[in-house]
Parts: sequence; C-alpha cells; structure tokens
Amino acid sequence: MEQFSLTKEQLDIQKAAREFATKELGPVARELDSQGKFDDRLWKKAAELGFLGVFVAEEYGGMGMGYLDQCLIVEEFARVDLGMAHAIESTFFGTQLIQLIGTEEQKKKYLPAICDGEMRMGVAVTEPDAGSDVTAAQTTAVKQGDDYIINGSKIFITNCSLADILIVFCLTDPDNPKKHKRFSTIISETDRSGYSSNTYHDKLSLRASNTGDAFFKDVKVPVENLLGQEGKGFYNLMEFFNRTRVQVAALGVGTAQGALDKTLAHVRRREQFGKPLSNQEMVQGKVAEMATMTEAGRSMYYRAASKLDSGRPDPSLSSMAKWYCAEIAVKVADEAIQLHGGYGILEEYGVAHYWRNAKVLEIFEGSKEVEKVIIARKLIGRQ
Ligand SMILES: Cc1cc2nc3c(=O)[nH]c(=O)nc-3n(C[C@H](O)[C@H](O)[C@H](O)COP(=O)(O)OP(=O)(O)OC[C@H]3O[C@@H](n4cnc5c(N)ncnc54)[C@H](O)[C@@H]3O)c2cc1C
Repeated sequence: MEQFSLTKEQLDIQKAAREFATKELGPVARELDSQGKFDDRLWKKAAELGFLGVFVAEEYGGMGMGYLDQCLIVEEFARVDLGMAHAIESTFFGTQLIQLIGTEEQKKKYLPAICDGEMRMGVAVTEPDAGSDVTAAQTTAVKQGDDYIINGSKIFITNCSLADILIVFCLTDPDNPKKHKRFSTIISETDRSGYSSNTYHDKLSLRASNTGDAFFKDVKVPVENLLGQEGKGFYNLMEFFNRTRVQVAALGVGTAQGALDKTLAHVRRREQFGKPLSNQEMVQGKVAEMATMTEAGRSMYYRAASKLDSGRPDPSLSSMAKWYCAEIAVKVADEAIQLHGGYGILEEYGVAHYWRNAKVLEIFEGSKEVEKVIIARKLIGRQ
C-alpha cells in the first residue's frame, strides 16, 4: 500500500481548511497584517469549524484526531497567509503539552475551552539572555506553602497580551548540579496580580499575531498549576517541541505552496520577449525547483507527523522537517518574488508577504542552526 496517501477523512479536512482559508482569511489578511490586528471573529469561527487542537482527545473537547490532521489544516491556512495561520494556530500553542503530561483536572479545565475558542494560551520560555540556550533561563518559581511565586521576564512571547494562560518555563531548583534538572513548567493565568506584558508593534513577520514581553513580579500560582513533575521542565519542553516543530514545518510547506501557486499564475500571464515567461526554459527550471522543494518538505513533515501519531516521535526527524521546511519556505518565496520582478516587491501583488513571514520560521521554536545541532547529535553523538 502507498504509505503516504491521505485518508478520505484527511482529504475532507484539507478541503474544508482550504475553503475556510480562501474565503475567510484571504480577503482580510492584508488589512489585518498592515494594522497588526488579531481578529477575534476569525479565531472563533476557526474554533466553531473544529480547526483548533484537532489532536486533542474528544473527551477534552478536541476531535480526537492526530498531529498530521492538524498539520494539514495549518498548511492550508499558511498557503493563503502565514500571518493569519500563525495568529490562529498559536492560540492553542501549549495544548500539546497539557494533553501529554497534564493532570486530569488541568486537561478538563483548559483543553475544552481552548479548542472551543473561549480561551487562548501561549508558552513563555525565551528570556533576554536565554534564547537558543533555554537552560540559561533565570525566571524563578519559589515554593511558598501551597503556592509558587514566579519572578522574571520573558521576551518574544506569542500571545503574551492575548492569552488567558501561559505555560512558564521556570527555575525551581537553581542549585541542582545537573542544569537540565533545574527547571519546571508551570501554568500561570495572565489575570493574576503581578503579571504584565507589552506588545511589539513593528515586526517583519506575523504582524497580525501578538508578540511581546511578559513580566512576572511575585506572581502567586497554586502548586496544582505545576505541569508535569518538578525538575522535568527541560524534558517537557523537548517533548513539546518534537510535536510543534512538525507543525512549523507544515506552515513552511503551506507558505512555499502558496508562493508557488501565485508564481505559476503570474508566469503564465506575464509576457516578455514576445512570449509568456512560462515559455522560457530558465523560468521552467525555477518553478520545477520550487515545486520539488515544496514536495520534498511535504513528504518529510507527513512522515514526521505520522511518527508522532503512531506514538514513536523521532526528534531528529522533527528537527529535519522543521529546518528544511522553514528554509524552503524562504527560498521558494524568494524565487516567487524574483519571478514576479518589480511586482513582487509591491504588497498588493500578494507574494511579498510569503517571504516576509517565512523568515521567522527559520528562527523560532529552535533556529535552523539549533535543529542541525540536534540532528548531528543523533548522528555522531554528543561531543
Ligand atoms: C515572532 C516570534 C514569536 C516567538 N514566540 C515565542 C513564544 O511564543 N515563546 C517563546 O518562548 N519564544 C518565542 N520566540 C522566541 C524564539 O524562540 C527565539 O527568538 C529563538 O529561540 C532564538 O533565540 P534568540 O532570538 O535569543 O537568538 P539567539 O539564541 O541569540 O541566536 C542568534 C543566532 O545564533 C545562532 N546560534 C545560537 N546558538 C548557536 C549554536 N550553538 N550553534 C550555532 N548557532 C547558534 C542561532 O541559530 C541564531 O541564528 C518567538 C520569536 C519570534 C521572532
């Protein structure tokens, strides 16, 4: 049997996501992007149609499907506009970890509300001096009676000013000689006293998605908010990224596919030297390369997602998919602009945004260099 043909159900999901993206996201994407505005109506509609957290078990408000199904959805959204895709999918960024290691109570409290579009979340790891090296994080959570008291600052946090809850990566055992055992993941509601945030208003990428700084000043959260075990925060994070990196890969493939679609239409239409651009062999070579890279990326993320769905995550494959698909998104979007000539530079021609947005995929959730370190470690061991 052909291993990577989609099931009838998956083809239906893909079609429904494509229709939603084309009808609902496409017409408003440029305006929301230029205003840097998150659209509540679109988020709620995406939730109503069941596009949020489809991998969450049905008993916790999801569709009980898989990561591949979720990836198919975000690929279709990004094919229209990565900024819109990220704004919507980031609202459930963190549900993967709650589903994996949350207590029954935590799952019941948060997952249905997030899948239903009543609550948004985020994950706060990065700090001014702890980017690629998450073990340099300084935010502390000190146990006092039945509470943790959180203090510290996080930067570049998606949804820090929109989320109802954040999973915060904190030092709980700062003196542990094993640095990977110093951390825990703790859920903090953002309406708790001592929490504040700001928003970056001038970004290259993902303008309609909320990003900013998150500040914790003596934020008191009950010990029940500990997510997983104390001291396992670093390992929790790695498990989380194994899953979300595949979703980033799907966003990359969607971006590349969208840029390719636009380019094919343009080169067929645009004539120079007395014939359509598509009749020039060098142009044909470029579109062939764009399509091949996109298809290679798609095959890789399908496989990485299938591994997650079969309960056998492959961190190295997730990292390969993440860096490769992010990189080809940038390359394909770059060629798309090149083949549009001067029109590619004008936002109104609808290709510039693919390139602007694609760049961030090579940076967040593990830069491409960090992904390569993970892949190399599997190949040659820790040096
Ligand atoms: C729009 C946006 C949204 C984000 N959302 C979130 C979020 O929701 N939650 C969150 O916690 N964070 C978030 N981030 C932060 C993101 O994960 C970090 O920016 C990323 O991990 C890189 O960290 P840094 O920016 O500090 O770069 P640095 O770690 O300073 O890296 C700078 C460069 O050096 C390279 N480098 C670093 N170490 C090595 C090495 N050992 N070998 C080779 N090269 C290396 C990196 O690859 C990179 O190219 C977001 C960032 C952006 C831009």
